[in-house]
This record gives sequence, structure tokens and C-alpha cells, in this order.
Amino acid sequence: MEYQNTLEFATKADHNDELNAVRDRFHFPVIEGKKCLYFTGNSLGLQPKSTKEFVDQELSDWAAFGVEGHFHSKRPWYAYHEFLTDKTAKLVGAQPDEVVVTHSLTTNLHLLMVSFYRPTKERYKIICEAKAFPSDQYALESQVKFHGFDPEQAIVEVHPREGENTIRNDDIIAKINECGNELALVMIGGVNYFTGQVFDIPRITNSGHAVGAKVGWDLAHAAGNVILKLHDWNVDFAAWCTYKYLNSGPGGVSGIFVHHRHVTNKNLPRFAGWWGHDKETRFLMEKGFDPMPTAESWQLSNAPVLSMAAHLSALTIFDEIGMEKLRHKTIRLSGYLEFLIDEISSELNVNLEILTPRNWEERGCQLSIVAHGYGKKLFEKLMTEGVIVDWREPNVIRMAPVPLYNSFEDVYRFGQILKSALQ
Ligand SMILES: *Cc1c(COP(=O)(O)O)cnc(C)c1O
Repeated sequence: MEYQNTLEFATKADHNDELNAVRDRFHFPVIEGKKCLYFTGNSLGLQPKSTKEFVDQELSDWAAFGVEGHFHSKRPWYAYHEFLTDKTAKLVGAQPDEVVVTHSLTTNLHLLMVSFYRPTKERYKIICEAKAFPSDQYALESQVKFHGFDPEQAIVEVHPREGENTIRNDDIIAKINECGNELALVMIGGVNYFTGQVFDIPRITNSGHAVGAKVGWDLAHAAGNVILKLHDWNVDFAAWCTYKYLNSGPGGVSGIFVHHRHVTNKNLPRFAGWWGHDKETRFLMEKGFDPMPTAESWQLSNAPVLSMAAHLSALTIFDEIGMEKLRHKTIRLSGYLEFLIDEISSELNVNLEILTPRNWEERGCQLSIVAHGYGKKLFEKLMTEGVIVDWREPNVIRMAPVPLYNSFEDVYRFGQILKSALQ
């Protein structure tokens, strides 16, 4: 695509974009009477207009049926999570028996590590990326301590090289090989939340397996953003939240993936609850946990129906469109943003450094930009002009034009506002 920094180019690109009309299916915040330019779908996705109807359905069924809604509501609550299974499997490239939607992300990471981080005196190390999302760092640290190991020794972080912003896949693989038979687990964010870098999930997974480690992925910034083939990639486990790219509402439910080769293993250690028990005998309420032979056996509790209703609404849209089309638009839209940032940098002779990989294969929607020489005033100016982006001290702007509801015109208008804010 030959990009141009003109409104004419942007409107034409929108006109030719088969997903352009999808944005009308979302609510945009309004700032001072104007629809904002929303670029924080990587933090909290916008609300689909259909979500109210999905949630209202459950509220009215609850009003109408009370407890009987477990069996008599339009979508019976006792099995509500099952309405999400096929769409979730398609979204992350899994078989239906490999996924379930349940709990929240950090909770799920812990539950999965209970099963897949089984350190011994010889094999106890975990490899993760440097500056992992804080919740993941705390989860890893507390798991290591829980098993009586010292995080200083057990957690091995892979850093970017001196003078580089992102981590080389080769360096992760070298570290995996270096740890060798001391390595118990590799757990990395598939898309880095700060830089937007997409890691080579299949290659890293293979390398981890080659030294006898388990490999799990936090896909908080990957699900609904990039194409995933978790089954084919042989990933052991993964988890993601649904309120970022998946537009399922603040604090929404999380998804998990456990590879088929593990789900039928009833001897795998796990923390159990009644919703993971064989559903045929669940209501006999008897002693003795009998896990379902699917990822559902990691469920502890009955389905949080109201937040699942919001998730079902959003997943329905993803299911209808498919990740291929979304990814196709992402590449062009993030490319356009990159083009405009570069243009503005050279035109105004300012240093806007893009931290995110330039190679489109190594990024999703998000670009992280360092505005050298500018401080929080720049961010405040953008906000007063109706642009919602994410600001990280001292001067990093993270923004994600997302293919569901952002347009080329949004990106063009952002460029215009950024330019005048820098002047
Ligand atoms: C957003 C995010 C989280 C948030 O965890 P919650 O349990 O949903 O609060 C965790 N890890 C990563 C990598 C994230 O991007």
C-alpha cells in the first residue's frame, strides 16, 4: 500500500476497506460533544452495541426464572461457558476440548502453573522476558517461592541487547539451551504489552520442548490481535484476558488453553473445584474429584454469566469476521500509523522513536512511540484534542489502532493532532 498523509488517501482507504462498517457496531466515548479518537483497544476494548442485549437477556431471565434460569433461561446458565467454546477455539487455533473461558487471567496463570510448573531440585528454572507485565512477574515469583525456591536463582529473564528495544527470539532460544535440563518452564507474554513485539511462539515452544521444559504463554495482548495456532504450535498451555482486544468489558472473564495431549491426563496435578468435575456426575455431589477430559477441568466455579454474556457478544463479532481479515487490516493500519509518525518526525525534525519492531510480522496493532524531548504536556494536549492513547512515564505513548473499529481516517486525524501538538 502506497501511503499518503492526506485526508483524501485516508477516506479512500476506508472506502476500500471491507471492515469499515464494523466500527458502527461499537460505542465510542464522546469528548466535548465529539466522538473521540480511541487508540486504547489494547487496554480496554470498546463496547459492542450488541452487548447490552446479551447482558439484558440474562438479567431478564434471572428476573423471570430465579434459580430455574440455570436450566430454563434462553442460554441455560449451568453450561453457559459452553456457548463460548467453539468461537474461542477458532479464535486461538485450538480444538474445542483444549479451551475454556473461566476466572480471570492472573488466577488462570496460577492454576495452570500448579499443573505445569512442577520444579525438582535439578529442574526448577523459569525463563521469562525482562520487564514482563507486573502481574506475571508477581505470579512467577510467588510460584517459585511457593515451591521453596529462590526467585533470584529460579527466574531467568531475557533482556534486549544493549542499545536495542526489543528482545531477539534467538536470545531467548540461546537462554533456553543454556538452562538445558535445569529449565522447568518457559512463560512469556506472546505479544509484549509495552513494546508490542510479537514473539516467535512456535519456535520458542519447540526449543523449550527440546530441552524437556514446558512452555506456556500469556496471550493478554495476543488474543484477538494476531493469528494464533496454539494446537499446531504444540503450546502446553496459555491464558488471556478478554477485555483488551476482545472487547468483553472491564475485568471480563479469561480464556485458557491446555493442549489436547494434557487434557485427558487425569493424573496431572491441579487445584480442583466442582465445575471441573465430570458434568454427568457433578450434581451427585459426591466425594472424589473426577476431572473432565477437557480444558474445562481447570474450572473451579460455576460460570460468571453476566460477564460471559458480554464476552459472547464480542466473540460473536470475531467469529463472524475471522482473524485473517482482521490481521490483514491490522498490517495496513499499523503501517499507516508508522508512515505518519515517520513523516511527522522528519517534517518537524523531532525524534519520535518507534520501539515496536518495524517488521510487520513481529507486531500486531500496537505501536509504542518515544517522544524524545517531550513530556506529559504532549499527552495532555492529545487528550484535550479528543485522542485517547496510553501514556507511560517518562515519555512513551502506546497506541493501538484496532481493525474492528479504527479507521484510516482516525489514524490520519491523529497524525494531524500530533503534529500540531508537537509544534
Ligand atoms: C493485561 C495483562 C494482565 C492483567 O491481568 P488480570 O489478571 O486480568 O488483571 C496480565 N498479564 C499481562 C501480560 C497483561 O497484558
